[in-house]
Amino acid sequence: MPVELKSEAELSQMRRAGRINAEIRALLMEAIKPGITGFELDELAFQEIEKRGAVATFKGYAPGGRPPYPGAICFSVNEELVHGIPSERVLKEGDIVSIDLGATYEGWVSDAAFTAPIGNVSQEAHQLIETTREALWCGIESARIGNHLGDISYAIGNHAGPYGIIDEYGGHGVGRAMHEEPHILNKGRPGTGMPLRSGMVIALEPMFAIGHPTTTELDDRWTVVMSDGSLSAHWEETVAITEDGPEVLTRI
Ligand code: MG
Repeated sequence: MPVELKSEAELSQMRRAGRINAEIRALLMEAIKPGITGFELDELAFQEIEKRGAVATFKGYAPGGRPPYPGAICFSVNEELVHGIPSERVLKEGDIVSIDLGATYEGWVSDAAFTAPIGNVSQEAHQLIETTREALWCGIESARIGNHLGDISYAIGNHAGPYGIIDEYGGHGVGRAMHEEPHILNKGRPGTGMPLRSGMVIALEPMFAIGHPTTTELDDRWTVVMSDGSLSAHWEETVAITEDGPEVLTRI
């Protein structure tokens, strides 16, 4: 079962976890420029999380016998889709990078990601980033009481246009743990799946690629790349479903 917030007090705890996440992503967005490394961005995120009395959710995460994840952020460049490990890799003009951040505050987890262009990027890369971001907001708009999970998946996938929709990874419930039920596909059929209820908290995360949507996991057991080497983009927000509509807890 997904976590369901039972009170206004629990919603405000999630709001705080979400706000911390948003503040740090805003700092990361400002810091991203040609010449900066994954290590530098990771260190910035880690220090800012600590400064706010929160915990870097990803650090040490080790599901299914994987080696403990070493970073506070995921740092996925170009054809790397998600879960790239921060490294000495230097971002250069024309790259695109997905930065994913988890922040836990007093036991409540927020999860969000963005894809940024490094300096001037190709029109193709720019369009991919924008379409993926728009698809996230289509999904968010559908996260309403009376709708079903499939309505969110459909809204995201319906906005993909010519891009490959990655369906090996997707959104998820979030709140007391980083990955809770349900799994949320990035394409689906309207009116299908679990009915959406007030108090549910979900992380929506469309991932689109210019080429074929098949992915490969590298030998580090974390980094997921597009099998055909094509560019990919990824955006994510943590959203609470409320009587007043979707509330984006990680909104910058
Ligand atoms: Mg996530």
